Amino acid sequence: MQISCSFCGKDEQAVTMLFKSWSEEEGTEAPTYICDVCVAQCYQELVNEGIVGGMSTKKSTLQKSYRDSVVETLTRAIIDMQYKDYLLEAFAEKAGMECIMRDELIPMAEAIKRLPAVMLREHAVLPLRMQNKTLVVAFYDPLRFIEAYDDLVAKAGCTIQGALAKKQAILKAIDKWYKKKK
Ligand SMILES: [Zn+2]
Repeated sequence: MQISCSFCGKDEQAVTMLFKSWSEEEGTEAPTYICDVCVAQCYQELVNEGIVGGMSTKKSTLQKSYRDSVVETLTRAIIDMQYKDYLLEAFAEKAGMECIMRDELIPMAEAIKRLPAVMLREHAVLPLRMQNKTLVVAFYDPLRFIEAYDDLVAKAGCTIQGALAKKQAILKAIDKWYKKKK
C-alpha cells in the first residue's frame, strides 16, 4: 500500500522520513502520516512564535560572549603593542574621546587631590584637570579603565571623563607627582 504525508501529500519515495500517527487504533481508520519536511516547517513556526526555542537564546548569549572575548583579545593585543601612536589616535577617535600624545603629562593641582595615589597605581590612571565639574582622567588600558570607572567616580565624588594617553607618560607622571611615602 502506498503511504503519503497527510500534510503535504508527498509519498514515501519523495521524502526522507514519514512519521506515523501514534493514536492509531488497530484496524479502525487509516493512520495519519507526516513527513520530515513538514515536521521541520512546524518546528520552525514554533521557534518563530517563541513557543520553543531555548536554543535561540543560548545561541545569542554565546555570540555575545564570543564577541566580547574577541573585543577583549583585540584590545589586549593593542595594549600589549603599547599603542603605536596611530592606533592610539584611531582608537580614541572611534570611542569619541580625547587622545593625549604627549610624552609628559602634567596634572593640575585641583585634579591631583581628587584621587589617592594608591588608587592611581592600582588602576594605572592619572587625573589631569577639572573641566565643567568633571574630572578628566588619563588611562592607557580601556578595559582596566572601564573596570575601575565606578570606583573612581565614587572616590572623586564627581563625574569622570577618560582621555587616552601613552602608558609610559601615565606611569612616569604617577611616579613624579605622587611620591611614594618613605
Ligand atoms: Zn509533508
